[in-house]
Amino acid sequence: GRDTRWEMQVAMLPDARRLVHLVDRSAGHAAEKMRVDFVANASHELRTPLSAILGYVETLDDEKAGGDVAVRKRFLKIMHDEAQRMQRLVDDLMSLSRIEAEKYRAPDTAIDMAGLIAETHAVLRDQRGERGRDIVTDIDESLPFVAGDRAQLSQVLHNLINNAMKYGRPGTPITVSLARGPGSMIRLSVEDEGEGIAPEHLPRLTERFYRVDSSRSRALGGTGLGLAIVKHIIERHRGRLDIQSTLGRGTTVSALLPPAPLRLSSNGNSTVTG
Ligand code: ADP
Repeated sequence: GRDTRWEMQVAMLPDARRLVHLVDRSAGHAAEKMRVDFVANASHELRTPLSAILGYVETLDDEKAGGDVAVRKRFLKIMHDEAQRMQRLVDDLMSLSRIEAEKYRAPDTAIDMAGLIAETHAVLRDQRGERGRDIVTDIDESLPFVAGDRAQLSQVLHNLINNAMKYGRPGTPITVSLARGPGSMIRLSVEDEGEGIAPEHLPRLTERFYRVDSSRSRALGGTGLGLAIVKHIIERHRGRLDIQSTLGRGTTVSALLPPAPLRLSSNGNSTVTG
């Protein structure tokens, strides 16, 4: 009868509670482990250049080594490079935490991606021309705007182009394109003709500090945070990241972004509702 069923439910309740508690706890553990790993990795990444700088300061302080102008110049150059590496790391760490803090606030401006690409293209063409890398653009002008955060989408574009520059073969072009994606999504892609990425690495590329080749990434000035930042920004935009790569041929990294609703103005004053 009724009472028995009720009793059974009550009897089961503590177990159910225990189960919920268990699930909660294990989710908490995973998150806690990630946080601990992240702090350990970040500290290690900062400590390496810091130790180098301290070592060179001590050597320069030594009369014999510090007296030689050529040696001093060489050491100062290394210290400068290491300090710049620390700066890049701190900048990326700050970007990451800012983006994470904004995770639940949907971006609220209609962004003209074609315009943003053209602007970025113009800046990079002047800056990087000497590296002999052509940036080619292929833009569908008829696409709607993207509901976004301009500074963050600009960072996505910069990080992806930066990677294409680092891992693309010298002398080969980089193609930035804007096309219709699946459904109503808009696809922003950056394609390089480079070394490519082996399939087993693909699922882990957006993890913080994950690199296919650590020493190579460091030598090229990488922090290991570029794609983690990209992933967080795309998630905040309710979009999707898609990486296609063929080892030895090249890589195409795409951000699939939802279009802005029509009522969204491009001055950022009106906000997305509903
Ligand atoms: P990094 O600062 O090391 O470049 P990212 O988070 O931007 O960090 O990328 C993580 C890793 O993914 C890189 O170290 C590199 O191994 C790989 N990677 C990223 N983009 C490309 C690309 N376009 N071609 C080949 N490998 C890439």
